[in-house]
Amino acid sequence: MLNKIEHIGIAIKDALVSEPIFNALLNQKPTKREVVEKENVQTIFYQVGESKIELLQSLSDEGAIAKFIAKKGEGIHHIAFLVDDIVAELARLKSEGFQLINESPVPGADNKLIAFVHPKTTNGVLIELCQEVIKN
Ligand code: ZN
Repeated sequence: MLNKIEHIGIAIKDALVSEPIFNALLNQKPTKREVVEKENVQTIFYQVGESKIELLQSLSDEGAIAKFIAKKGEGIHHIAFLVDDIVAELARLKSEGFQLINESPVPGADNKLIAFVHPKTTNGVLIELCQEVIKN
């Protein structure tokens, strides 16, 4: 089951430029920053009600975010839904004919297991599923 929009990911070129914009827009400072080494991306989170805004800045010219900006410019990159059982939800989406970028979940930012659904099969919208990792 999709529980809520967990966050909206926004591709940015430069946090030094974009952070002050979002600080002013959202009238707050970021609640969390985290580098996802594997994706070569800096993430900056803002809590907005029950959802978050995730700014994504590439740390290399080769990363997915750098490629996205080169192709489409800065802006909304993906919508992330919170699910209880990411494996079951991926299986459901696959059976519905959606093309999965991640066949099985991978560790993401903000203590989550994540998986992406290809925008080719979702009207051009990159979809992320995420599930909280339970810490012992
Ligand atoms: Zn995300």
